[in-house]
Amino acid sequence: MATRVWNFNPGPATLPLSVLERAKADLPVYGNTGMAVMELSHRGKEYDAIQTLARDLVAQLLGVPQNYKVLFLQGGASLQFAMIPMNLLAPGKTADYILTGSWSKKAYKEAKMAGAANVAGTSEAANFNRIPAQDELNLSKDAVYCHITSNNTIFGTQYQTFPDVGKVPLVADMSSDILSRKLNVGAFGLIYAGAQKNLGPSGVTVVIIREDLVEAGKTDIPIIMQYRTHAEADSFYNTPPTYSIYLLKLVLEWVKEIGGLDAVEKRNREKGKLLYGAIDAGAGFYKGAAEPGSRSLMNVTFRLPTEDLEARFIAEAKEAGFVGLKGHRSVGGIRVSMYNALEPEGIRRLCDFMTAFAKKNG
Ligand SMILES: *Cc1c(COP(=O)(O)O)cnc(C)c1O
Repeated sequence: MATRVWNFNPGPATLPLSVLERAKADLPVYGNTGMAVMELSHRGKEYDAIQTLARDLVAQLLGVPQNYKVLFLQGGASLQFAMIPMNLLAPGKTADYILTGSWSKKAYKEAKMAGAANVAGTSEAANFNRIPAQDELNLSKDAVYCHITSNNTIFGTQYQTFPDVGKVPLVADMSSDILSRKLNVGAFGLIYAGAQKNLGPSGVTVVIIREDLVEAGKTDIPIIMQYRTHAEADSFYNTPPTYSIYLLKLVLEWVKEIGGLDAVEKRNREKGKLLYGAIDAGAGFYKGAAEPGSRSLMNVTFRLPTEDLEARFIAEAKEAGFVGLKGHRSVGGIRVSMYNALEPEGIRRLCDFMTAFAKKNG
């Protein structure tokens, strides 16, 4: 087999090797079905077992309370930007949006089409280098929900504690940090995540929604856009993305196998300690882009003294087998995406590379 690189792509992103090998073994013939998973009827019992297990594993790993539905939808997190306000917001009603980066801004733009969207907090003036503090928030008392982005994939910031929004349902885009740490799902009204960062390949979006919000959804919008449609059909309203959900199931089984969220969180904290340690130890050669209190454990952003050095860093890293390190153009510099599946060994090796690079060029 050709060698696999250390893949720091922001998404789609690296998957556990054991998952890929399982998928490879299952590829032409799945179990005793005589066909590939992607050839199975979505109405048959073999495929049903896969999707049901995936749904139950999401609930089990995250400790999803009984009064929530776990849905598998399509259209990515981006469709949720539109679907949430379509269902829950209306002219004369207000939804709060805390803006912490490009993704929250996109979500906010969609909300403005459906009703009043209030910017309840933003760190845009500081180029989104931090999460706004609780006392900076300007929350509406009667908001139908408050939307946040738990991890900002582009800017490298992450909520360390979630905002207190009282009785208002908290809605969170967790595309880039779902399943990366322990979570109190009961504190949220709705959680959504495109799978292609922490959960599997692209093509499936996980939505965890409290039942009263399913019921509160509007009935005068297209049927396929209503959460109740998908909740009532248990995510079988139309053909689900069967192969993506099968891979999601394998990733969830892998998370369970390595010890669930406790173990995953511990592993992610260790990776963060190593990498931020290497950034801070560089005598100013590397400068973290995010404020220390808002640093993400999933996407680590930093700059080098010059753009020239950044280009050289990326080129030499690539030669050394580290791929996907170029920062998003809105931040520049370097971005290390280290989702659950990125092995700690990759971070140790990258840190060694960084130390040597700083020594040579500092
Ligand atoms: C990647 C990402 C998105 C976009 O997801 P799509 O599946 O492409 O729609 C939205 N929000 C966050 C936080 C992301 O990281």
